[in-house]
Amino acid sequence: MPSERQITIFDTTLRDGEQSPGASMNIAEKMEVAQALVDLGVDIIEAGFPIASPGDFEAVRTISQNIRGAVICGLARSSDADIDRAWEALQYAERARIHVFLATSAIHREFKLKMDKDEIIRRAVNSVRRAVGYCPDVEFSPEDASRTEVDFLCRVVEAAIDAGATTVNIPDTVGYGTPAHIGNVIRTLRERVPNIDRAVISIHCHNDLGLAVANSLAAVENGAGQIECTINGIGERAGNCALEEVVMALRTRHDHYGCTTRIVTPRLVPTSRLVANITGIQVQRNKAIVGRNAFAHEAGIHQDGMLKERRTYEIMKPEDVGLAKTDLVLGKHSGRAALSDRAVALGYHLSAEQLQTVFDEFKRLADKKKEVYDADIAALIEQEIREAPETWVIAGYRLIAEMGQVPTVTLSLKRGDEEATEQVTLGDGPFDALFHAVERITGVEVVCRDFNVHSVTVGKDALAEVTVEVAHEGQIYRGRGVSTDSVQASVQAFLSAINHVAAHLERSVKPPAPQVGSKA
Ligand SMILES: [Zn+2]
Repeated sequence: MPSERQITIFDTTLRDGEQSPGASMNIAEKMEVAQALVDLGVDIIEAGFPIASPGDFEAVRTISQNIRGAVICGLARSSDADIDRAWEALQYAERARIHVFLATSAIHREFKLKMDKDEIIRRAVNSVRRAVGYCPDVEFSPEDASRTEVDFLCRVVEAAIDAGATTVNIPDTVGYGTPAHIGNVIRTLRERVPNIDRAVISIHCHNDLGLAVANSLAAVENGAGQIECTINGIGERAGNCALEEVVMALRTRHDHYGCTTRIVTPRLVPTSRLVANITGIQVQRNKAIVGRNAFAHEAGIHQDGMLKERRTYEIMKPEDVGLAKTDLVLGKHSGRAALSDRAVALGYHLSAEQLQTVFDEFKRLADKKKEVYDADIAALIEQEIREAPETWVIAGYRLIAEMGQVPTVTLSLKRGDEEATEQVTLGDGPFDALFHAVERITGVEVVCRDFNVHSVTVGKDALAEVTVEVAHEGQIYRGRGVSTDSVQASVQAFLSAINHVAAHLERSVKPPAPQVGSKA
């Protein structure tokens, strides 16, 4: 192996990541993430699964039309309709990739596909050929590869490369692999597949055993040239290989791996925060690289060592992953240019119109609160970009609450020119009463599954950030509200979840593809 290889980073936050429960994003949010991924320096963005739903199709098409600087990839099952639909969305991309997958393990062949080995090979070859007819960059994934008999895996991979696949991806779909096992699979492919040098070997690991990053690194050690991963490791079940972890492992242990990536590592923390804010899936404090405590040295003995020489306890510098040493504080005298600068530094790309709205909100906030921190600004921007048009907004509320008494709430909501007011006297507390009032006005009833209030920054005047998770007809929706008034933030959060439900109900032209369940 040459001593210095560049590993291709294939990000699937918008496809595999978005599949994790409650992580669904609207098109505007996906565009924000896609742009942030380009800034981060990922090579390939898997933008979605076009045939899965009209929303997925729109997202892939919009990203293909507007995002430049990375290859845009769309997922397709091994069927003509899927591949055609994928290309329909991808055709506008500066550089496009079609990613075709087909399950190859015995259990999938027998129970899911009901196909024998020869049929699988035929199907794979036909699909890859069809995709190659559209674009030269084609990736093929034998789904559940890690549980596929290795002889058969070699046959499938060889046939796919012969048919024109330029990348062969090895998914550990169920998170079953261990480092030695995955490393062995990759090495075997390199040794036994005669045409393997005509394609890049890719690795796609799930984290069911907490081994996704370790398995991906083992694959790289054995010759894989592409890693599929997601920001914060989000994804189905226990998630996918975390981009920030695998990239920093390669960088920090360059002495061992001898590999580089194109990732601009100081963008890691801003991108992580963006994805956490957009999906509502917060990162645990002790999460490697991007967790709040990842660089906190609390133990006295460590602090003493740190003061004398940082390297005594630190293998990476916080600034290398984009953890700013000091929050730049803005105040009421800060201008639009300063705000715009901070927005860019935080990873956002606002239109002039959005910047104006955020600036107005910022001025209002700066009046109430002396110091405005990065997290406050991020919260305001999220609020702005998350709002879908034509949704309910709060016009006003009045709340009478007393310990031991049933609360009374008068709530007014507006949608366009329409305004509605409800008064309710019920509920277990003021929030419950407010949520009932929202349901009555909007006509959308949900089950509240999670309700979280926390302060965005420090101090008594800090912004309250409220996140709620609601269930509606088996689907999970999240909402988020931010205000210095925690009651208002709560109503906003609940309302934004309801708005997502309403938007979904409006869009609910039933998707064409039925069994889209398991995917690479
Ligand atoms: Zn996956």
